[in-house]
Amino acid sequence: MFEPQTVFGVRLYAARGSVSGPTRLVIGGLHGDEGLFTTPFIERLATAELTAGDAILVPSLVADGRYIGVLSEEYYKSAAGKLLLRLIHRYRPSFYFELHAYGQQSYERLTDPERVHKIGVPHFIELGNGILIGSIAPLLRRRFTSEDFCMTIEIPKWTSEDELVSESVLELLRIALASRDRAALMQTYRARYPTQVKHAEELFNRYYRHFLKPF
Ligand SMILES: [Zn+2]
Repeated sequence: MFEPQTVFGVRLYAARGSVSGPTRLVIGGLHGDEGLFTTPFIERLATAELTAGDAILVPSLVADGRYIGVLSEEYYKSAAGKLLLRLIHRYRPSFYFELHAYGQQSYERLTDPERVHKIGVPHFIELGNGILIGSIAPLLRRRFTSEDFCMTIEIPKWTSEDELVSESVLELLRIALASRDRAALMQTYRARYPTQVKHAEELFNRYYRHFLKPF
């Protein structure tokens, strides 16, 4: 059962399973008004049961904070970024998820195959229903080990209340809560979303040249 807690002034839910397993950290609302959109998803995820390991769910890291992109070094020097690093340091998750929300006008930019040439990071892959997946900011990914699993989920703001969107996002995250290790998590994702995950893995491997494991 998830229990509400406040850690470093941040409202979160924490649960521990009856047997050992990975620590998952799921964080929404990293900047701007995204917390308004990520909170309902995380509140619903917090009703799940956890059998193994730990899970920490943060509905909204900041409430309507300043918008600083997480790809920039400036973010990790801001109040929000410092708080994020403190939470990561405290929990040392082996599965880490960032939940973001994007506007319709950003779809082209986020999924642009030229993104890697334009801004130096791979584009996102659409999982379906406008939900985008990819790794996390390279600046942050380097703080995790190769064995860790790090994923960004971008929720479409304009359809975030659609049941199809909620169910897809929750399914992706529930798989992470149910998986006992990285291999099991990857196996389930590859089986459930074969083309999307294959494509995202290819982009990741091209970017990190096999120094890290996706994602
Ligand atoms: Zn964002």
